[in-house]
Amino acid sequence: MNSALHPRLKLLESQLSVPTLTPIFDDKLTAQRLELWIKRDDLLHPVISGNKWRKLKFILNHALYSGADSIVSMGGAYSNHLHALAFAGKCLGLKTIAYVRGEQPQKFNPTLIDLQNWGMELRFVTRSDYRQLRAFKHHDSLPDLKPGQYWLAEGGASNLALQGVAEILAEIERPFDVLVTACGTGTTLAGLIAAAPAHLQVVGIAALKNAGYLSDEVNRLLPNNSSLAGWQILLNYHFGGFAKTTPALEQFIRYFSAEHGVPLEPIYTGKMLFAVFDLLNKGFFMPGQRIVVLHTGGLQGVRH
Ligand SMILES: *Cc1c(COP(=O)(O)O)cnc(C)c1O
Repeated sequence: MNSALHPRLKLLESQLSVPTLTPIFDDKLTAQRLELWIKRDDLLHPVISGNKWRKLKFILNHALYSGADSIVSMGGAYSNHLHALAFAGKCLGLKTIAYVRGEQPQKFNPTLIDLQNWGMELRFVTRSDYRQLRAFKHHDSLPDLKPGQYWLAEGGASNLALQGVAEILAEIERPFDVLVTACGTGTTLAGLIAAAPAHLQVVGIAALKNAGYLSDEVNRLLPNNSSLAGWQILLNYHFGGFAKTTPALEQFIRYFSAEHGVPLEPIYTGKMLFAVFDLLNKGFFMPGQRIVVLHTGGLQGVRH
């Protein structure tokens, strides 16, 4: 596998910054001698934020080296994935095509407007057609792909995505014991588990309801080797389901953003940090533990 970066991708990557760790100070943390840092992948790039860049990087590299001229993918009308892909595609000179879940709305939301402005071709599909697209996992497995078209499955779930996620760990320059991330498809979590040293405890917070299937998904993505970090997925912080919220969650997000100066959104990162503080109150962490939570970005999805 060629993991040297394609020149066009190298140029794009040179515009990204290596996100810092923001320390969080809170009496509750101090009382338990816990340390908490946020790995700010929301600050990677003004547009291509968070885990979506991490997951796309080596997939786009593979596509470029395979001679692809277009990327075909799928997502919802607020999709962070499509947003990152459309912009990256424009920078790299790749055409992008997206199957978007649901009917074409009369008035486009800010995400769809960006996608359109960046030249992504949008194909609105019914929810049941959308579900059927999930069956195609491999980059050449979508029926009716034209020559030069590269299929990118939902959530970017592939080994190439894990390779990009692994780079997050290499950037964290201080020792730590626990790593927390939000989970949608579980691809980011799988990438962190695969790259984490065996002593690290990796915790995923599911953003979707009834996400019991997620651990099978993560296992499917993980390479077969035995030195994996200990990991678990917590299923009870979905607040009613994907993109659902509650007044308590909204209040927490307002409080946290104002108090610590770190913006959160209610779909992934707000739920994850709510979970971290709830777990703290429940004695989940061991005194003295150093916790890093991954800010996976996603703030474009909550523009009004
Ligand atoms: C997509 C996304 C996730 C979920 O990532 P998976 O790899 O699908 O689990 C988490 N946080 C944010 C902000 C996202 O946009």
